[in-house]
Amino acid sequence: MVADLARRSRKPADGGERMRCPSCGYGDSRVLDSRPTQDGAAIRRRRECPRCQRRFTTYERIEEMPLLVVKQDGRREEFDRQKILGGLMTACHKRPVAMAELQRIADDVARRAHDESDGEVASRWIGEQVMEELRSLDEVAYVRFASVYRAFADAERFREEVERLGRKRS
Ligand SMILES: [Zn+2]
Repeated sequence: MVADLARRSRKPADGGERMRCPSCGYGDSRVLDSRPTQDGAAIRRRRECPRCQRRFTTYERIEEMPLLVVKQDGRREEFDRQKILGGLMTACHKRPVAMAELQRIADDVARRAHDESDGEVASRWIGEQVMEELRSLDEVAYVRFASVYRAFADAERFREEVERLGRKRS
C-alpha cells in the first residue's frame, strides 16, 4: 500500500512525440497542455512552435502503446477506462456527485496508469487510485466502492496485507 501511494506523485505533463510545426516546418514544438480525450483513447496536446509561435493541437493515440491490467491471479486483460467509470457510477448511485467529476477521475486514473507504467498496471493499483479519489469526494461512495473492491480482492493478498500492517504496528 505504501508503495502504491508513493507512486501517486504525478509526473509533469510529458511532451509525447516530437512534432513538426505545420506552419514553418520547425522540427519540434513546446507542449502547453496535455490531457486524454473523453473516451481516453488518445492524448490531446496543445502545442506551440518556438520559432513562429503558431499554436496547434495534436491527437496521439494511446492504442500505439497498449496497456494491460494484471489481475490478482496473474491473468492479463486490456485496460478499459469504461470499466473504471462503471465502477464509479455504481459507487455514486443516487449520491450528489456530478457525472463530470466521475469522468475526471476516470481520466486521471487512465492518464496516471499510462504515464507511470511500462505497459502493465496491477488491478490492485487501479482500485487503490479510485478509492483515494472517492475518499475525498464522497464518503458513502468511498465505503461502497471499498467494500466491493475488497470483496473481489484475492483473499491471500488481503491476509498478507493484514499481517504486514500488524507487524508495522508492533
Ligand atoms: Zn513554426
